[in-house]
Amino acid sequence: MNAAKCPLCGGPVQRIRRRFVDRILSLLRPIARYRCQSARCQWEGNLPRPR
Ligand SMILES: [Zn+2]
Repeated sequence: MNAAKCPLCGGPVQRIRRRFVDRILSLLRPIARYRCQSARCQWEGNLPRPR
């Protein structure tokens, strides 16, 4: 099983607490909120949950 990666820099991402909108979205399709662990990048967003 592959861990999620940052879509911007390809670095490792950390799963973070979901927001309210994410719960709504996750009803439509399985997603999880992540944040990039790179200090330069700091990308945060939703990725499809790995199965
Ligand atoms: Zn990144």
